[in-house]
Amino acid sequence: VQTSLYRDTEIFDLITKENNRQLHGIELIASENFVSPQVMEAAGSVLTNKYAEGLPGKRYYGGCEVVDQVEQIAIDRLKALFNLTWANVQPHSGAQANMAVFLACLQPGDKILGFNLSHGGHLSHGSPVNISGKYFQPFFYGVEQETGLIDWNKVEETAHKERPKLIICGASAYSRDWDYVRLRQIADSIGAILLADISHPAGLIAKGLLNDPFDQCHIVTTTTHKTLRGTRGGVIMMRNDFPNPFGITTPKGEVRMMSSLLDSGVFPGTQGGPLEHIIAAKAIAFGEALTENFYNYAIQVQKNARVMATEFVNRGYKVISDGTDNHLMLIDLRPKGLTGKIAENSLIQADITVNKNMVPFDDKTAMTTSGMRVGTAAMTTRGLVEKDMVRIVDLIDDVLMNHDKATTVAAVKKEINTWMQDYPLFQF
Ligand code: PLP
Repeated sequence: VQTSLYRDTEIFDLITKENNRQLHGIELIASENFVSPQVMEAAGSVLTNKYAEGLPGKRYYGGCEVVDQVEQIAIDRLKALFNLTWANVQPHSGAQANMAVFLACLQPGDKILGFNLSHGGHLSHGSPVNISGKYFQPFFYGVEQETGLIDWNKVEETAHKERPKLIICGASAYSRDWDYVRLRQIADSIGAILLADISHPAGLIAKGLLNDPFDQCHIVTTTTHKTLRGTRGGVIMMRNDFPNPFGITTPKGEVRMMSSLLDSGVFPGTQGGPLEHIIAAKAIAFGEALTENFYNYAIQVQKNARVMATEFVNRGYKVISDGTDNHLMLIDLRPKGLTGKIAENSLIQADITVNKNMVPFDDKTAMTTSGMRVGTAAMTTRGLVEKDMVRIVDLIDDVLMNHDKATTVAAVKKEINTWMQDYPLFQF
């Protein structure tokens, strides 16, 4: 083991390697992005040294005058971005944000209804291997096999049959928009709370490019590092606060507001001290997202995804739901005689990063899968536009159709490495 108090070259050499990997390749993982230099600087700042349990102005530690201001700015910018009355910016990740909501709203054993993981949902929405599926009783809705779309009537049927206390909408691999109005009607008809997890499309929603969930969904969570293009993390938001519907009271017998329950759900419910360096980086990213430049970025992400989906379809690939409204798409590779595992492994040889992904009604395991998921958030940050998407799909097709020919794969890799020299990581 090599250690040094002054310079840990073992780790810094690996960071340099990772930097080069990101720089030289094409990043299509739908949940990834490249943050700006100032977001990175804040994430690596002295704020990491500070303990600040509690909320701005109400801390359990001294010396919080500066981080109080940082955290308040993060909250205020997030409120401005999504037109909110309340937000908590402390969740360390998207899964933590969801866990805090569950703790605030539910009792162990309560029923929840979420989007099926194998149809594009997220682990933290009731998967049996996640705390959400172990401590609560999960039920699921999915997409239709023929269309790849969610049938809202079927969601309603399941909701009426199982009567969950919480309905979750949002996904990790669903390329279409959500009918929040219909979902709220369904939630109201059974007295359920409606939670939207907008982790993937948050950046597009912030700029009005997709349906706005905030008037319909009681609570909204998101990660901050996907289309929102911030540091890794999570947040919980509400446009309107409300007295909790399940009669949870304070020790004095007063009904608690949902905001107070959610704050407690984060700390002390599921976390200790907040990461103030990460909250500073979130504040900067929210500031960036408030700009006109970010609107142009978000629009380009969406345009790039549409072109990419069309190009895949034109080359005979099966895009689930035949297209996309947001930044991502899910591709069933079975018509091409490939698995997700083969696709992921062969594309990485050419420095193209995608992830293998289950497709709805998949007949393969999660380690093999029949599909791959691709998204445009990261490459749009590097400055690529529609014509570049055509070229990327060409290169992907070249690799997939010749995945056993090392010379073809090596030629594609060379082309990509040369091409990417013109595109710094953060450009847009
Ligand atoms: N929710 C959704 C819809 C996601 O797609 C993800 C991550 O991919 C998460 C939650 C979890 O976020 P994290 O990895 O930050 O815990």
